[in-house]
Amino acid sequence: MKRFTHLSPDSVATATAALRNPGAAPVGGGSDLLGMIKDDLTAPEQLVRLKQLPGLDTVAPQPDGGVRLGGMITLTGLSRHPLIRERYTALAEAAGSVGTPQIRNAGTLAGNITQRPWCWYFRQGFPCYKHGGTRCFSRTGENQFNAILGGGPSYIVHPSDTAVALVALDAQLHVVGHGRDRWLPIREFFVLPREDVARENVLDPGDIVTELALGPHTGARGVYTKVTDREAWTHAVVSTAVVLVVEDGVCQRAGIALGGVAPIPWRVAPVEQLLVGQRLTPELIETASQAAVEGARPLSRNRYKIPLVTETLRRALLSFL
Ligand SMILES: Cc1cc2nc3c(=O)[nH]c(=O)nc-3n(C[C@H](O)[C@H](O)[C@H](O)COP(=O)(O)OP(=O)(O)OC[C@H]3O[C@@H](n4cnc5c(N)ncnc54)[C@H](O)[C@@H]3O)c2cc1C
Repeated sequence: MKRFTHLSPDSVATATAALRNPGAAPVGGGSDLLGMIKDDLTAPEQLVRLKQLPGLDTVAPQPDGGVRLGGMITLTGLSRHPLIRERYTALAEAAGSVGTPQIRNAGTLAGNITQRPWCWYFRQGFPCYKHGGTRCFSRTGENQFNAILGGGPSYIVHPSDTAVALVALDAQLHVVGHGRDRWLPIREFFVLPREDVARENVLDPGDIVTELALGPHTGARGVYTKVTDREAWTHAVVSTAVVLVVEDGVCQRAGIALGGVAPIPWRVAPVEQLLVGQRLTPELIETASQAAVEGARPLSRNRYKIPLVTETLRRALLSFL
């Protein structure tokens, strides 16, 4: 492991100035980054600590009924917050499903959505696309946990639980870096490997995610369901976030996203369109669940994810009847 220095800036401006150094990297709770450094998968000269930045660990209700979330809020703080539990249940459940209590205590929301892939070829230092190589070892190798949708040339799956809920909730992200700042929809934040195989999101070097915003979602109910291959300490094999507004049995609005199946949190717009304006019935739910995997292209060992998605989504949708 290479030696590195550590900086704890007291403002976003000081942090982004420090991150102008190409050898510097932002760190939240360090629950992902420090492991990568120990495993010699990355070697920053300096870690720029963000967690102590003032005012970025809060949940702030907005006059329009929405809410602003500090990017440095811990996953424990997010999952236990009464307002998030009540109004944005899918997000609270997603945050509460991450890894272990220790990881949720250390890990931040911004770090959760910007964590690097957990494909074992990447984590074991194989010279794959994500390490600047020219192949994806999972394509013909051990691909049980890899992508069935949106894959190629890399078949990683996006590992973040909270990102799946945030996509279903249509969140906005505040990104600050190098003298510019912008808000962007989370649905434009993640990048497919066919667009840029080296990265998972639109952040440029030195950019940081400082805040997130959620709309009012009046009348909405949400649920996050995560299937894992063991009971704790691990990412989703498949997950679904479903946020619906249902009035008198008719679906008025729908936000639906899948995790564990694609290189980005996978919004299933065709399923949303099938549901909106329709009375929710078991038959409609069956059709919608099947539609979620239309176009799936499983690899040699992950065909099982197709029925896992349809069944997980079917059960989630049935809970709205
Ligand atoms: C055993 C284990 C189990 C896990 N299980 C899960 C799981 O079930 N679900 C899940 O979603 N995750 C899981 N994780 C992954 C991860 O540790 C957590 O997602 C955690 O939330 C990451 O947040 P952090 O603040 O610790 O990130 P860090 O390690 O601090 O950072 C992660 C990455 O994001 C970058 N970064 C950090 N903050 C910012 C920012 N504000 N702006 C831009 N870039 C930033 C860092 O440079 C780094 O590349 C697991 C990790 C471990 C070790």
